[in-house]
This record gives sequence, C-alpha cells and structure tokens, in this order.
Amino acid sequence: MLLNNKVLIVEDEEHIRKFIKVNLEKSGFIAIEADTGEKGLEIVKDESIDIVILDIMLPGIDGFQVCKRLREQFSTIGIIMLTAKSQDIDKIMGLEYGTDDYMVKPFNPKELVLRVKSLLRRMETTKEDDLNIIVDGLFKVDKYSRKFYKGNEEIELTPTEYSIMKLFIENPGKAFNRDEILNAVWGYDFVGDSKIVDVNIRRLRSKIENDPSEPYYIETVWGIGYRWRSLD
Ligand code: CA
Repeated sequence: MLLNNKVLIVEDEEHIRKFIKVNLEKSGFIAIEADTGEKGLEIVKDESIDIVILDIMLPGIDGFQVCKRLREQFSTIGIIMLTAKSQDIDKIMGLEYGTDDYMVKPFNPKELVLRVKSLLRRMETTKEDDLNIIVDGLFKVDKYSRKFYKGNEEIELTPTEYSIMKLFIENPGKAFNRDEILNAVWGYDFVGDSKIVDVNIRRLRSKIENDPSEPYYIETVWGIGYRWRSLD
C-alpha cells in the first residue's frame, strides 16, 4: 500500500470526526477534516485526496450532493458514505452517486479503517514493469495508468467499477457469483449487501454497453451473477 494516503473526513459532528481521524492516523493515514460539504469540496480541489469519508447529514449541501459533485469532477477518487439511517442505503446505492462503499452508524472505527484499506487496494496501480495492458476485443485496461478504453475512447470509471472491469477482463468467459465479486473487489472482510455488486454492474453497463437495457458485454448469469463475454 502507498504510504501517507490522504483521507478527507466530511462530517459536522466533531466527536465523530475526531474519532475517525485518530483511528486513521493510528494506521498511518493523513486525515484532513471538513465540517461541511462545501469545505470538503474546496479541500479536494487543492489537495490530492485519495479517499473521502462522507457523512450524509450535513449542514448546507448534504452528502448526496457532495458525492455527486465529487464524481462529476473526480471519477477516480474513493468515496465511502456514512449514514445513520438504514433507509438511506438504497439511495446510497443509487446509480447516480457512484459510491464505493458505505457504513451505517454507529460503526466500529476499526471496521471503517479496514474499508479504507480495502478501497485503497482497489485503487492501486501496478508497477511500470508489470504487464500493463490487457486487451479484450474492443476494450483495453491500462493497469499502470488505471485507464479504461472502449475502442479509442477513454471511459471514466470509479475505483470500484475499474476493479470489477479488471476482474472481468482478466477472466473472460468466467461466471462470477456475487460473493466472488464482493470478495475479489471489496475484500474478504466485507460485511454488507450484495446489492452493491448489482448497482455497480448497472452503472458499468450504462457506461460501456451499446444498449444498457440489452447488455451484451456483461452478461447476466441467471441465478448466479455475471460473466464477461470473451471477445477474443
Ligand atoms: Ca452529520
């Protein structure tokens, strides 16, 4: 893992913010605080932030709006949302937000740090001397720059979408069940809803398929999960 990864905590409740900060710093992260979404967005412009931990209930613009604006400008930043309400989960998982992960309050800070580490693993690039380019038909994954192309067009993917795409292209034709995708992408310690897989697949389809309502490249394997159609 890279050293000194920067994590921005956007949370108006000071005691929760400090509590997260202390736990991140214990694990070697640089933690930066913002008590409003507006301030958080300003910080992201000036600092090279790797991951944003984003509370939903904030004074001013809420976490959903912050998430949306972040994704419009920085597709590759990692986003973990915090929520106090279980009814927010469906919204968090909504297509428009592109959240990488979420936690429901109250949470164990160690669990949050694990989620941050797991997300960073998803965001890691390969070393320059590794085999960097994987091509399957029209599609190309560049593991060094973490870029993804369909033909000559670069398609911007979130860290989670990129990890799923890489998993697929490295295993063409293989049927994955949701747990296998969860384990490979979010990590073995993931405790949560496998719906997060489906939402990410839906978003990927909307980005890469010619007709997302009739997916061709990412096939649904009924009763199991998903399969990348081998193109070569
Ligand atoms: Ca709050």
